[in-house]
Amino acid sequence: MGNRTVYLDNNATTAVAPEVLDVMMPFFKEKYGNPSSMHSFGGKNHKYVDRAREQVAQFLNAKPSEIFFTSCGTESDNMAIRSFCDRNGGRTRLVTSVVEHPAILSTVEYMHRKSVPLFNVEVDNKGLIDLDKFRDVNIDKHTLVSIMWANNETGVIFPIKELAEIVKSKGGFMHSDAVQAAGKVKLDMQDVPVDMLSISGHKLHAPKGVGVIFIREGTKIPPFMIGGHQEDGMRAGTENVAFIAAMGKACELASERMDEENKKIQAMRDRLEKELLEKCEGAVLNGDKDQRLPNTLNISFEYIEGEAILLLLDENGIAASSGSACTSGSLEPSHVMRAMGLPYTLAHSSTRFSFSAYNTEEDVDKVIEVMPGIVEKLRAISPFVK
Ligand code: PLP
Repeated sequence: MGNRTVYLDNNATTAVAPEVLDVMMPFFKEKYGNPSSMHSFGGKNHKYVDRAREQVAQFLNAKPSEIFFTSCGTESDNMAIRSFCDRNGGRTRLVTSVVEHPAILSTVEYMHRKSVPLFNVEVDNKGLIDLDKFRDVNIDKHTLVSIMWANNETGVIFPIKELAEIVKSKGGFMHSDAVQAAGKVKLDMQDVPVDMLSISGHKLHAPKGVGVIFIREGTKIPPFMIGGHQEDGMRAGTENVAFIAAMGKACELASERMDEENKKIQAMRDRLEKELLEKCEGAVLNGDKDQRLPNTLNISFEYIEGEAILLLLDENGIAASSGSACTSGSLEPSHVMRAMGLPYTLAHSSTRFSFSAYNTEEDVDKVIEVMPGIVEKLRAISPFVK
C-alpha cells in the first residue's frame, strides 16, 4: 500500500474512473470541435452528447428528452428552484427540509429574501422525516417541495417516493437533490413521481464540473442559463462534450456495477462502524442505522473536536470529513447535526467516513488501527473532560 492516502471522503468527491477518463480524452485532443457547428468536424461530436443523454436516461429510467446537462449539482439545484419560482410569477411557495445541502438551503433562502414564502420540514434525532407530519404541510399547485434523496453528512435516505406521492396528491411539484444518492441507490423515475431531480458527476466517478437535471415531460419551467439554443434551449452554453460523455459513461458503469459494489462497500463500512463503536470510548453513530446509504458512516466521539480528529487522521494519511465539504472550513457544528438535536459536545465531534468501490479492507484496518489512539490523545486534552 506504501504511502497511499486512505481516501474515505467519497461524499465530498470521488476519483474519476479510468474507463471514464478514457472516454473523455479524445475530446481534448483530436475531437475538439463544437457539436453545434455546421461542419462535420464539430457536428459529428453531437452524437456523443446524444449517447450520453441516453446513458443518463437509462440510469434514471427516464426519457432522453427529460435529461439536461448542467455544470454541477449546485447549478441543477439552482435551476430547479429559481426557474420554478420564475415560472410562477411571484405565486410560488417553497417547502424544503432543514438538512439540505447549502446548494438548496442558500437558494431557497435567497428566494425567501425576495418574498417567496418558505416552510422548513424538521427531522428527528435520527435525521428522519415524519411522513404523518409531512401530510399536514400546506401544499398547493403553486408549491415546489425540494427534499434531498439522501443526506450528504449522515447518509440518511428519505422516503422520496412517499413524499412525492403526497406532494402530487395535493397538486404540488416535487424536486429532489439526488446528488448523494446517485450511484448508491436505485433512482427510478418511472417509480418515483418527482418532477425534477439533480445529480452531479463528481460524486459517481465522473469529473467535477458536470451535472444533470431531470425535468419530467410536461413540467414547464423557463431556462435558468439564457443564451444559445443548446440543451433544447433549456441550458445555454457550448456543450462540454468531454465531461458530458464522461457523465454518460459514469452513469452506465454505475448501472452495471452498483449492486455488486454496494455489497463490498457496505461490508467495509459496517466493519469500520462496529470496530470504532467498540474500540473508541464515547463513540456514537449519527443518523438512522438502517435508512442509510451503504457507503456513509457518521460518528461522533464525545468531548473532542471534529477538526482536531481530521488533522490527526490527516497526519496518518487518512482523508475523512467533519460534515459536508462546504462547512468544514468553519468551526460551527454542522446544521445537520444541530437539526438532529445533538448536544454540543457530540455535534462538534461528528466525523464522516465515506467509501467508494476503490477502497480496500486495508483502508479499514488502517483507520481501526489509528482511531482509538487519536480519540484517547484528544480526550486527554479536552477542556470538557475533568
Ligand atoms: N447536493 C448535495 C447533497 C451534495 O452533497 C453536493 C456536494 O457536496 C451538492 C448538492 C453540490 O454538488 P456540486 O458539487 O456538483 O455542485
